[in-house]
Amino acid sequence: MEYRKEKCAVCKTETIYNSCPHCGWVRTCLIAPNKIHYSYNFISLNRAKELYNARKSLKPSFEDFLECMEVYAELGFVIGNVLYGVFGISKGHRFFGKGVENGGVTFNTVDEFYEKAAINGVLLRNLWDEVSEVNVIYGFNEEEYE
Ligand SMILES: [Zn+2]
Repeated sequence: MEYRKEKCAVCKTETIYNSCPHCGWVRTCLIAPNKIHYSYNFISLNRAKELYNARKSLKPSFEDFLECMEVYAELGFVIGNVLYGVFGISKGHRFFGKGVENGGVTFNTVDEFYEKAAINGVLLRNLWDEVSEVNVIYGFNEEEYE
């Protein structure tokens, strides 16, 4: 199989990879065969270029994440080495993970999530700087999650 190198749209690194090994920008959205799948950008290309030029990671802001909640049904993010899930459900958004009230809380709207989502009593919006990774996650059940 032949691979074709392409320049990353953000940092211009030539790579054969779908996800740029230098800055993390994802060229296209391929489905990986592993259980938990990561391969989306959550910010615009222009925003990614701004962040890259400012030597910052391409992590979405909390506001970007709230927008993503309207688009992606199954989102995850990592704080420390703990994975948290935010899943769209028929009556709102289910937020779950270690330190979330009762292990999981349902919010009716994204605004309510913004106002109330908390981990160990600290509002998520005040914890966002500690988030190291944001991604779409597939094949992941809250019931399996401890
Ligand atoms: Zn890049």
